[in-house]
Amino acid sequence: MTNQKEVLQPLRPGKLGIYVCGPTVYSYVHIGNARSFTSFDTVVRYLRYRGFEVTYVRNYTDVDDKIINAAKEQGEPAQELAARFVREFEADARAMHLLVPDHSPKVTETIPEILALVQKLVANGVAYEAQGDVYFEVGKWPGYAKLSKRNLEDMQASERATTGEQKRAPLDFALWKAAKPGEPSWDSPWGKGRPGWHIECSAMASKFLGETFDLHGGGLDLIFPHHENEIAQSEAGFKKTFCNVWMHGGFLDLDGAKMSKSLGNVVRLRDALTQIDAEALRYFFLSTHYRSPLAFTDKSLADAESRMEYFYETLRKVDARTSNQDFGAGPLHGDPSKWVTDFEACVDDDFNFAGALGILSGLFATMNELMDKPPVKDKPMIGRTLKALRAVVGKISLVLGLFEDEPGAWLLRRRDRQVKARGIDQAKVEALLNDRRAAREKKDFAASDQIRDALKAMGIESMDTPQGTTWKVLG
Ligand code: AMP
Ligand code: ZN
Repeated sequence: MTNQKEVLQPLRPGKLGIYVCGPTVYSYVHIGNARSFTSFDTVVRYLRYRGFEVTYVRNYTDVDDKIINAAKEQGEPAQELAARFVREFEADARAMHLLVPDHSPKVTETIPEILALVQKLVANGVAYEAQGDVYFEVGKWPGYAKLSKRNLEDMQASERATTGEQKRAPLDFALWKAAKPGEPSWDSPWGKGRPGWHIECSAMASKFLGETFDLHGGGLDLIFPHHENEIAQSEAGFKKTFCNVWMHGGFLDLDGAKMSKSLGNVVRLRDALTQIDAEALRYFFLSTHYRSPLAFTDKSLADAESRMEYFYETLRKVDARTSNQDFGAGPLHGDPSKWVTDFEACVDDDFNFAGALGILSGLFATMNELMDKPPVKDKPMIGRTLKALRAVVGKISLVLGLFEDEPGAWLLRRRDRQVKARGIDQAKVEALLNDRRAAREKKDFAASDQIRDALKAMGIESMDTPQGTTWKVLG
């Protein structure tokens, strides 16, 4: 509200109520939506990690013009289409490792609360009925535009052309819309109709979090009019502050423009996840501050996945060196807890996950140095330190939603994706590796080197490890 960073002071000690505007379920979500949901998912994870008891609410808009239009086009009842895309969203959210919110209310399940709030607004003199519609009268609410800081007169001038017949003033907005034939509708004191878009979030937030709550999130595009209208409805209805802190996420851009269904420049999340690992996509999203724009390119995704490969390879090596090993008690090299302190200091400052990923890089570089160029000779000390650093990775990665996989399994899936994408003949690779093994057994190192070069020409690197020979796709 102040356009500044604010100290998050819980309304009730140790507890936080968080509301995030969820998807309108008329189609599959794109990776722009996924960026927004991943940012707030990570915020919730972090606040829980910090010890807060978080109640996390993310709604489904399952009644809306876009749904009605899509249903008409596809010849499917609107309610069925919406229910289908709720299920599809749930599958996508699972694939993206998003937490399941504590409450995921739908408009169709919140009609009594919506009607009660609209009635309250009419009773409070800030809303009026007109031919079965009900509108919020912006002129009666002096606090309007305090979030977006827009100038009411400028807005009125630009809205004039779109003034609806029923509205008294251009900026008034619909709380309830009279039913049109063939559309979903519910009984109300003003006849059959359905809710306007904004009212649902006011009704749902108060239903699950109370009339005032701690934190509200959504993409930048929602500041006006959606969030402005949520504030007006809730504060004019309940006569209380709506929420303490607002967080708005920057856009994911494709070819220089916001990724959006209306522009048509979208990449569906599920299509992206056939090309890239979900954790690598999370890494890509988190590598830029949540408020800043983020440009999507195929290269940036590929880079994110190679980075994840480096991380997972490091973890595999650390695990091979340390699991089921007892290094005894004793001093460590350096102070592993410093990484946790640095991580927390970074994220405490406006959820700087990008900075946190930088810290993670330092942590991985330290683990690699301990394994490859040990700065001390004391092997048990190195073992103990690696174990302690591995535990720090586990702690941090729970917050970021990364490294939830077993390293070997993750690396194998990455390799399978690369093999497929590049049309590599896996049987031929395995045959060459067998030939190379045979040549080495016969101590025919010239032949072995020749085969290694042939593999390299195919984009394959063979690696001899204590567990045997494995291979990876280069670059
Ligand atoms: P919608 O289903 O269009 O209401 O969008 C769901 C969420 O995704 C909202 O919080 C939007 O602000 C957000 N969103 C939509 N497009 C983008 C984008 N290109 N980048 C980031 N967030 C977006
Ligand atoms: Zn909303």
